Amino acid sequence: MSTPKVTIPSSLLPADGRFGCGPSKIRPEAVAALAEAAPHLLGTSHRQPAVRSLVGRLRSGVRELFDLPDGWEVVLGNGGSTAFWDAATFGLIEQRSLHLSFGEFSSKFAQASAAAPFLDDPVVISSPTGTHPNLIADPRIDLYALTHNETSTGVAMTPQRPAGSTAAQLVAVDATSAAGGLRWAASEVDVYYFAPQKCLASDGGLFIACCSPAAVTRIERLAASSRWVPASIDLKIALDNSRQDQTNNTPALATVFLTVHQLEWMNANGGLEWAASRCDRSASIIYDWAETVDYATPYVADPAQRSHVVATIDLEDRVEAATVAKVLRANGIVDTESYRKLGRNQLRIALFPAIDPEDVAALCACIDHVVSAIG
Ligand SMILES: *Cc1c(COP(=O)(O)O)cnc(C)c1O
Repeated sequence: MSTPKVTIPSSLLPADGRFGCGPSKIRPEAVAALAEAAPHLLGTSHRQPAVRSLVGRLRSGVRELFDLPDGWEVVLGNGGSTAFWDAATFGLIEQRSLHLSFGEFSSKFAQASAAAPFLDDPVVISSPTGTHPNLIADPRIDLYALTHNETSTGVAMTPQRPAGSTAAQLVAVDATSAAGGLRWAASEVDVYYFAPQKCLASDGGLFIACCSPAAVTRIERLAASSRWVPASIDLKIALDNSRQDQTNNTPALATVFLTVHQLEWMNANGGLEWAASRCDRSASIIYDWAETVDYATPYVADPAQRSHVVATIDLEDRVEAATVAKVLRANGIVDTESYRKLGRNQLRIALFPAIDPEDVAALCACIDHVVSAIG
């Protein structure tokens, strides 16, 4: 079926039409700053002071944004969050991990550790999509893996150590789509890792891992053990390089620059509390709208589990979400399609800090316009 011809009046359109969950909107101010800095930055050595000071600003910007306690390290490497799962399989899990699995992304780290021949089979606790399971202390495991925000379903959970866990057990949190948009407490976490193409409004390809002293000790102990680790995902090598404001191999300099720009923008405006409040505002706009109109409902039934950085909105069968997304796209509003493998009649909309809450409100008005035009 061809896309119905609907022209959304320009008075309704958002100022910026990017609502994708990653890669996500990069602020035009950051791109302009990159263009200005480019002649002295892009195409220069990552071993020299100009780039190293930028990596240093990235590390200190992360430290400030999350108010990391003394002794925590910000570790960087290439390959994004997916590479970090492999790195953690080699360099953070001692013998057996426990994973909360409640969507596409949270299931993948569990698969990586299940496939590792040198680890025992992981414990996996699942829940139906659209919900999250809870952590339960298990004396057999040495690392708990959870996901702050499950990007495929729009379910968020607050990172927390399970009651009864011991100091020898680490809590590792995949915060790829949460970091910088949702609140968390360092006392509840040992490793908080992410990639910068979501809330940090940069490009992909980098992993950033905030590591507690206990996590650093684990990395150092496993590095000293007899386990073989490929150098490109060796966390000890990544840690040693990060301490010198470098990466083991060449990073994408534009990605580093844009990440620093977003971090400093958030820190200058009031830090994580400011950024998370902005996401709260966008979330209340879109969920209130979805509960008000008669053709939409928030997919996540429990309001406490509804993500404030990724909203998933089910549409009634009479309104085809794929068609709505196509018409929006033809009008310059992109990436509102649902997560493919979830297979629902749904729109998925990023509410990351770079996205203006007023643009979220404008998007709701545009969806109303499209639905009444095609209905
Ligand atoms: C996007 C995403 C990933 C994958 O990130 P890459 O950098 O593409 O590897 C992993 N986990 C979550 C929760 C994500 O949202």
